[in-house]
Amino acid sequence: MAYIQNASNRFTLIDHPDPLCGKMVVVDWTLGNSCSYACSYCPKNLHDGSLKWQKPNDVLHLYRQLRRHYVDEMDRIVWLQLTGGEPTMHPQIVDLLHQASAKGFKISLISNASRTVRFWEKINKCLNSVILTYHAEFADLDHFIRVAGMMVDHITVHINVTMHPDHFDQTLEDARKLRAALPAASISLKPLRRDFGAQLYDYTKEQMQVLTNGLPSDRAPIGEQPRSLMRATTRSGRTETLRPNEFLLRDLNRWRGYKCNVGLESLRIRGNGEVYRGVCCVGGRLGYLGEDLVLPRDPIRCTKDACSCLADILIRKER
Ligand code: SF4
Ligand code: SF4
Repeated sequence: MAYIQNASNRFTLIDHPDPLCGKMVVVDWTLGNSCSYACSYCPKNLHDGSLKWQKPNDVLHLYRQLRRHYVDEMDRIVWLQLTGGEPTMHPQIVDLLHQASAKGFKISLISNASRTVRFWEKINKCLNSVILTYHAEFADLDHFIRVAGMMVDHITVHINVTMHPDHFDQTLEDARKLRAALPAASISLKPLRRDFGAQLYDYTKEQMQVLTNGLPSDRAPIGEQPRSLMRATTRSGRTETLRPNEFLLRDLNRWRGYKCNVGLESLRIRGNGEVYRGVCCVGGRLGYLGEDLVLPRDPIRCTKDACSCLADILIRKER
């Protein structure tokens, strides 16, 4: 196989510094596209309810396949990352979370935290981590703090604050209140991109500086997360441990021709039920939710020019 020389393929192996992370199968699962909010910066098809919520029987069928294939046959750990729309709006979400937990899966929810405190009390024991996004256009700050506060001392709580340039100062004030109320949470001040694409909204130089500085916590992180770092090794054995966005920023994310564990360490279920090995879709569609799927047993050769999703970067590959 011929390789085009670039900065990425100085490294012959990209793997997990912690072997336990290599056993995780992170299942990125979009349950539907209904949402309790309609944020002005969110493309309509991500919140307009044009897709029906996935049927509980189909979801449970895939749980059984995940358990058999990855846990029983491959001795891996399944970690579901459920998203939407707003995944907590799925009419059977409480049961689906309890059933996933009973199967021994680890679970993260990506949510806007809008549902009641009573709802979160029913599900929080099933969760291993949450990513809560504070959308100032709709969120109630006190409610958000109550929801995050009930989990922050026992599982990983990450908070994204979406920073619209037109309400920047007010949102920053809210973010500082979140920082003060939830010292154990990690918080990112998220710049917004038009239609969630490549182009940033117009931020002033001062606003960009605030976004770069962020609101770091002085507490050590609590709880677990599936993975956050990768170790890159050269042919001569020199290693560097990097965060996934460093691969992007340094143009070290080009692995065409490498043997990649996408599909062994990851799975992607789209809102319309299509199932892929990972976000990159290399290897093509494996089938649809509800079907009997043939799930991957072997790595696959990368066919993409660039590996551009952070979740995909956090997967082992080797030349
Ligand atoms: S909460 Fe998320 S999915 Fe819902 S409208 Fe806002 S950005 Fe879109
Ligand atoms: S694009 Fe897909 S196949 Fe290629 S390296 Fe990234 S995760 Fe692996």
